[in-house]
Amino acid sequence: MGLQFTLSSPDESVARQALYDVIIIGSGPAGLVSALYTSRANRSTLVFTGNQIGGQMALTWEVDNYPGFPEGLTGPELVERLQKHAERFGAVFEMDLVTAVDLGDRPFTVTAHSGIYQAKTLIVATGASPRKLGIPGEAQFTGRGVSYCATCDGWFFRDKHVAVVGGGDSALEEALFLTKFATRVTVIHRRDELRAGPALQRRTRENPRIDFIWDTVVDRIEGQDRVAAAGLRDVKTGATRDLPVEGVFVFIGHIPNTRLFGGQLATDEQGYLVVDRHMRTSVPGVWAAGEVGDPHFRQVITSAGMGAAAAVEVQRWLDMHD
Ligand code: NAP
Repeated sequence: MGLQFTLSSPDESVARQALYDVIIIGSGPAGLVSALYTSRANRSTLVFTGNQIGGQMALTWEVDNYPGFPEGLTGPELVERLQKHAERFGAVFEMDLVTAVDLGDRPFTVTAHSGIYQAKTLIVATGASPRKLGIPGEAQFTGRGVSYCATCDGWFFRDKHVAVVGGGDSALEEALFLTKFATRVTVIHRRDELRAGPALQRRTRENPRIDFIWDTVVDRIEGQDRVAAAGLRDVKTGATRDLPVEGVFVFIGHIPNTRLFGGQLATDEQGYLVVDRHMRTSVPGVWAAGEVGDPHFRQVITSAGMGAAAAVEVQRWLDMHD
């Protein structure tokens, strides 16, 4: 899951705190790697982690394609390594949510539950959050059978039958993970062709616990106290039926976490922050890295690379302006 940033009103009683060279909002691969780079350049660096350090990476069971780790590693292991690496050079991590930013004047003001902070520069690395289906029963049963995180909730579905909605890399990766617990995992996809890459497609098709329902959407989720069935609709024939399942895992893409910057930073038509090839946003002194500004690649390594690039630009900018 992506980082959540609530927008409650700032606590006026908290004192203004130190001025940082750079404040990084978000602690996924983009935030962690930019912190490593700016702190190693001897720039005072504060990272707001959000609800959970690591962002979506922390919820990933297996990271198989991060260069330099031929055996693969878990998301939390990679998070820990990246955090330690940044801390080695002096980056400070604040386990806190940012509630407001003021980009009107420099230094910028960043308000969090723990206080009000000032920064000469900002790197926005707030990532993205899971997209919802928006169907009856989804909100009602979230946490009671509806989930957006197999790594978090898979354990509760031991020996059960669960549905996975989506046909991308996330859906298949999470379906594979769920087979560690569930006896049957049914992937429901709205087309007859998967979007996921060939390696994941092969692994899922070969897994005896996974089956597919094609050309079908989930229209509603039924149950009493917990999920009991997914209401399906065949998009070609219009036929409807109930699939008895005890869990519905939804992996249908993400929405960038940009609410905090509403009206202050330019976004594209999908809501992603507009960044140029130097990771600059529409406000001088503010850079963005990772999924919040990347609707296209969305890999751990590309987010990490964007974080490094933003940090290099921050250093150059500080060298010129200090
Ligand atoms: P994604 O690639 O955008 O796939 C979303 C899937 O959900 C698509 O199959 C889409 O169907 C389906 N979908 C979207 N809205 C829907 C709706 N309202 N109802 C039903 N189905 C819906 O998202 P993702 O799988 O989260 O992946 C995001 C990015 O991260 C991708 O670039 C992916 O390659 C990357 N990623 C990579 C790895 C890896 O390399 N191991 C792992 C996870 C993610 P359609 O196909 O019909 O559009």
